[in-house]
Amino acid sequence: MPMLDPQKIWQGALGELELILSKANFTTWFKNTFIIEINLEKEEIIIAVPNAFTKSWMEQKYNKHILEALNNVCKSKIANIFYKIQSVKKFQQAAAADSAASLAGVNAKIALNTENNGYFQETSNPFGLNPRYIFKNFVVGLNNQLSYSASVAVANEPGVRYNPLFLYGEVGLGKTHLLHAIGHAALERFPKANVLCISFEQFTNDFVAAARKGAFDDFRKFYRSADLLLVDDVQFMIDKEKTQEEFFHTFEFLHKGNRQLVITSDRPPKALVELQDRMISRFEWGMIADIKKPDLETRTAILESKCRERNFTLNHDIINYIAENIKNSIRELEGALNKIIAWYDLSQLAPTIASTKEILTSLMVDPGKKPLNHERILEIVAEFYNLALDDLTGSCRRRQIVVPRQIVMYLMRMELQYSYPTIGQYLGDRDHTTVMYACQKISEMIEEEERIRQEVENIRQRLRG
Ligand code: ADP
Ligand code: MG
Repeated sequence: MPMLDPQKIWQGALGELELILSKANFTTWFKNTFIIEINLEKEEIIIAVPNAFTKSWMEQKYNKHILEALNNVCKSKIANIFYKIQSVKKFQQAAAADSAASLAGVNAKIALNTENNGYFQETSNPFGLNPRYIFKNFVVGLNNQLSYSASVAVANEPGVRYNPLFLYGEVGLGKTHLLHAIGHAALERFPKANVLCISFEQFTNDFVAAARKGAFDDFRKFYRSADLLLVDDVQFMIDKEKTQEEFFHTFEFLHKGNRQLVITSDRPPKALVELQDRMISRFEWGMIADIKKPDLETRTAILESKCRERNFTLNHDIINYIAENIKNSIRELEGALNKIIAWYDLSQLAPTIASTKEILTSLMVDPGKKPLNHERILEIVAEFYNLALDDLTGSCRRRQIVVPRQIVMYLMRMELQYSYPTIGQYLGDRDHTTVMYACQKISEMIEEEERIRQEVENIRQRLRG
């Protein structure tokens, strides 16, 4: 059996496909694709595609052509192609780490990163659903009862009762978990349903990509084919006018067709004041349910449930101690528990209250992590663009300084929800209308200029990291 180099095979197949497709289609759909795995025994090939949009297009439109091309190049039988969403970058990292070792043999397999971290772009399972986020793992307490019941109802009867279902609550309280759980449960009941689960940021990225490629028709076809559209974190719609407009029409289209929509946000519709009234009123059409912070009893139950999931025993006093000290979010609670479990696993010591206390204290005052405030935003943006702080707060009008300054204003608005006048004060006493203009300007640029979008995304990651 000759050695199979997956990338050579893919190059060959692309060569054939290029001949039968228009240039525009070819570059649009086949850029950033590659073969992840060839399994001749199973007659399967796994191809990586950059996003869900491309995945669906490949499956529906090009599968037959790709299959033919691959079979010509491989000179052997390939019966099935699977498309997996994976970024090129990740692939390159994995391939570098794996070097050429894995290329030999029949299973010319390139390191597969199947770890699922819950993000749509990276997930390996269909529909963008994180397999960990199911109803069974969701602990119900007074704080989330309403949201939970509404979610179950919607999963049982999508499009019938509460449409849209709008879930809101502060960060780390379980919105994304419930959203994905609805998707899983609906699919269990209706396996043929087209369930799409995306973050609003993902919707924006796809929209921007579609704009760049002039592929709005495909974009619309994709999103409007959903039977159940699950959209996470719509607060990111603020300041994205064009994407909001597009989302509004997607919403209208699906809602008219009795397709179910579920939306999450960090605040209730009324508090999304920057959105257009018609969008806010749509969000209020169905059912609005909030998730509050969990009480002590719920926090304890969550810890117990997570310990069971992890197969790790902590006695009741220790659980109680953790639950009493970590109150703000379930994500923090989970993070603390993970640290504690890791610590005991590594040290091989029996868990005690005293050592738990120590681990938690080291967690609570993390000296490496600075709080996110206006100073931090100024600092990071200055560092990113290699500018002095005075440049940002000063009055220079060179573009190299004006744009970073506007980005600072935009981020203070988006990340800290500061008022326009407050932001003006932090930037050398500027007028609030200047700040409003800056925020508007940057959000437009994000939608129109790939470079700015990436820079802002990069800065955001630094702020969070
Ligand atoms: P949000 O989307 O509101 O920021 P997530 O849904 O991401 O929060 O939840 C944060 C973490 O806490 C996730 O790992 C999730 O599984 C867990 N979690 C949240 N609520 C619950 C719950 N009621 N029971 C069990 N785990 C939960
Ligand atoms: Mg979330």
